[in-house]
Amino acid sequence: MCGFYTGAFLYRYIHQNELQSLKERAKTIAALIPASSLSSLSFSEEDISNLVYDNLKSKLKEILSFYDDTRFIYLIGKQQDKIFFIVDSENPDSPDYSPPGQEYAEASDGVKYALSKGEVVVEGPVADRWGYWYSSLAPIKNINGQTVAIVGLDIDARFHTTYLYTTLTLVAVATLLLIIFILSIYKNRRDEEKLLELKSEFISLASHELRSPLTFMRWKISNLLESSDLSKELAKSLLEIKESAVKLITMATSILETTATDFKIATRKNLVEVDIFSSVQSAIGLVEDRKNEKEISIIVDPLSVKEAVILGEGDKLELIFTNILSNAIKYSPNKSTIEILILKEKNKVSVAIRDQGVGIPPGDIKYIFSGFYRAKNVARGGVRGSGFGLYMTKKIVEFLGGMIECKSTEGKGTTFIVYFPQI
Ligand code: ADP
Repeated sequence: MCGFYTGAFLYRYIHQNELQSLKERAKTIAALIPASSLSSLSFSEEDISNLVYDNLKSKLKEILSFYDDTRFIYLIGKQQDKIFFIVDSENPDSPDYSPPGQEYAEASDGVKYALSKGEVVVEGPVADRWGYWYSSLAPIKNINGQTVAIVGLDIDARFHTTYLYTTLTLVAVATLLLIIFILSIYKNRRDEEKLLELKSEFISLASHELRSPLTFMRWKISNLLESSDLSKELAKSLLEIKESAVKLITMATSILETTATDFKIATRKNLVEVDIFSSVQSAIGLVEDRKNEKEISIIVDPLSVKEAVILGEGDKLELIFTNILSNAIKYSPNKSTIEILILKEKNKVSVAIRDQGVGIPPGDIKYIFSGFYRAKNVARGGVRGSGFGLYMTKKIVEFLGGMIECKSTEGKGTTFIVYFPQI
């Protein structure tokens, strides 16, 4: 239905445009013929030997040669009730030639109207003894504003219709291509969304399945710890195992919240005031072992603000910094340094974590937060990873109302900056 109306509208629009341009054409030709040039004509066959008639005929023929679609150009006059030809663009030997003064008995209503009212008229398609035409008629007026003649030009109606349908077909094909293009973009987007949905469904299922045995382990260890006949060493080890299980449960819960719901159903009502500085300190504590293994130093810049409170959840904030720090350690050489700078800017708190590691190739930076993406330089290397950590980190940052950005120079190092709204 919509296609039908669009087609009808286009047809009308192109048709009207075409007729308007015919009007303009007749007006231009009329402007080229001064009314005074007609005063020496007698409007009879005697004009054939008049130089003015000759000049007018040559002019019409010359103008005709400019327009491929125009078949005739002619001047028509009226005296008393007789409508007659003054001059036309045909050679005298043409079967379509009208000698000067020849009555135009079959003059259309348009011709009569243009002659009597002195207005520009376009009419068609009309049939006469010469064919089937669209005609455009424009008055030639003297200095008193009286119409002394009209200029007429005829174009073959079939030519006009062919032009109309060709233009319409081109427009229709272009519109169709545009619709196909838009639909294909829409489909690609839907496919991408579907893939992301599948990814997060899979991850949430996996993390859900992980949580149950971990919770069972924690519960069993707690029971074991309650028995009195444990050696000190065994109790210490059990406690450490229990702490690790608790961390894994927290991690699995976060993954579950992040992916299963994209935080849509996670509520912000549990948010409490959390101090960024202490969160960073405890994240540093959590990566201590990995950092020591590679003899890496983590330095909190002394310029860092010590008190910056935001709305968050302690373990979620810790998870953000632990993820960034773990990556910084993972992708940095032994004995390098990681610097942390916490700043307050206007109504924001920013935490920048800079390493001296392998960096990220410029073309990869925009993908690292999209989930399951590993930059080329690390994917081919020996360092293992899933490409999921930063996706989750970004989700948590956004859930807390913040944003995360990454600046990196390949071979030199990477800086992640996290911004949180300050309260
Ligand atoms: P992964 O488990 O692969 O580390 P992440 O989601 O944590 O997954 O990170 C995604 C990718 O971003 C990494 O595979 C790596 O290519 C790049 N990346 C993240 N942090 C750093 C960093 N500090 N230095 C260099 N590359 C990094």
